[in-house]
Amino acid sequence: MQPCHFLITRLSVRSLALSTVTPMAGIIYQQRMSALRSYNLLLLSRSSQSLHRRHYHLRQMSMDTQSGGAAAVARLIDSGLLKTQGLIGGKWTDAYDGNSIKVHNPATGDVIANVPCMGRKETTDAISSAYDAFNSWSKLTATERSKCLRKWYDLLIDHKEDLAQLITLEQGKPLKEALGEVAYGANFIEFYAEEAKRVYGDIIPSTLADRRLFVLKQPVGVVGAITPWNFPLAMITRKVGPALACGCTVVIKPSELTPLTALAAAELALKAGIPPGVVNVVMGNASDIGDTLLASSQVRKITFTGSTAVGKKLMAGAAGTVKKVSLELGGNAPCIVFDDADLDVAVKGSLAAKFRNSGQTCVCANRIIVQEGIYEKFANAFASAVQNLQVGNGLIEGVAQGPLINEAAVHKVESFVQDATSKGAKVMLGGKRHSLGMTFYEPTVLTDVNSEMLVSREEVFGPVAPLIRFKTEEDAIHIANDTNADNAYIGKGGNRDEVLQLLYSQLC
Ligand code: ADP
Repeated sequence: MQPCHFLITRLSVRSLALSTVTPMAGIIYQQRMSALRSYNLLLLSRSSQSLHRRHYHLRQMSMDTQSGGAAAVARLIDSGLLKTQGLIGGKWTDAYDGNSIKVHNPATGDVIANVPCMGRKETTDAISSAYDAFNSWSKLTATERSKCLRKWYDLLIDHKEDLAQLITLEQGKPLKEALGEVAYGANFIEFYAEEAKRVYGDIIPSTLADRRLFVLKQPVGVVGAITPWNFPLAMITRKVGPALACGCTVVIKPSELTPLTALAAAELALKAGIPPGVVNVVMGNASDIGDTLLASSQVRKITFTGSTAVGKKLMAGAAGTVKKVSLELGGNAPCIVFDDADLDVAVKGSLAAKFRNSGQTCVCANRIIVQEGIYEKFANAFASAVQNLQVGNGLIEGVAQGPLINEAAVHKVESFVQDATSKGAKVMLGGKRHSLGMTFYEPTVLTDVNSEMLVSREEVFGPVAPLIRFKTEEDAIHIANDTNADNAYIGKGGNRDEVLQLLYSQLC
């Protein structure tokens, strides 16, 4: 029998991102895209510029020297990719009132740059620019738009090292993961450069002899794209790629914690020949920017990745002007390990599924559900693998776990661990802040976790692996589905057909 190790990602609400970021009217296209977007299946084999130097804080640069941060920043300034202004109608712009916000390196606490703290007025102007640009951008041929996107993709890849360093500096993930994000993020632009040419219409049989029914795909107009900090590049390209491909224009609002990557990507979009006003970037007061996007009748679609709470606000706010909405919200992924799993592969797979980006992704394994026959063995092997994860500044070679994004993230993790231990969970490894200080948290393994604990009910969004014990297949299914959030099912077991069948049967 073939051993079976795989990840099936079910993104019921979040999955709408791909089509929802594909702002086309048309039933058939939506259906075709939904086939693409519903499930991701990954089989794990057994072998398995200097222009804005004024914004840069030289004092901080020297503080960052030890970790390579200063060198990284200097290189970014020289490459012209450290942009520190918003982009409105093709012009790099400060906040109208001159206010700014600091962007920190979470690994050192140092300030990397100041960016404008924008609000309603700047957002209104960005929307007007996108609205004006829509007239010409939407009238280009698909091939012309495709060429621009392809050029943008090429530039993203040409600058992959610079972009990866920027991601690590402002977000904290290890450089290797950041490089992976650049490849992953750029791929959305490449993919939609191709898809731009394949937006087909359809002819539907009519019930009346003198009628013809056609489905024509048309770009909806200006799209507001609100993105989170955990994938500062990829969450933008995933939204902007399809929007631009089909002729829409965008106003991007990146997370204020990680705006620099968004600005660098926008600079490369301009260099690629994407006309001024097609891509705009504003950041600052999130609710003012969000409310302005929602209130505008010129914005026809909102695409968002982030918290469920903010997603609900946006969904309600979009009703006033009846905008299309695509939401990619929180998750609670179960990773299921069956008794007959190959222990090495199960440990490696669970490690990757849990600790990528220090546990700060929506499809990170939030609960590791282990069958009782293998529970102790798995817990021991898993804990020793977790112990080997090197924690530190992501710019340092060999580091596998960066810092958490901010202090609030650490507080959340602390409160979840405290809640679990107060209800009977045991800390097998970690369970506290790392001796490096800042927002570093020790990679943690909890055992004897049950469904009453916050760690199994809500996204911990941090490096904490709760191990839950199960007896039968039915128990596993019940535990895995005992959540209101989206699930990414990750299965490890002995028989490929059985496990696949079991997991597919749950994807309803
Ligand atoms: P997270 O907890 O992952 O930071 P959030 O939902 O708070 O998730 O943030 C995701 C994105 O939503 C960020 O760009 C953030 O600035 C933005 N955001 C937060 N609140 C609002 C709001 N009221 N309106 C529009 N965007 C918002």
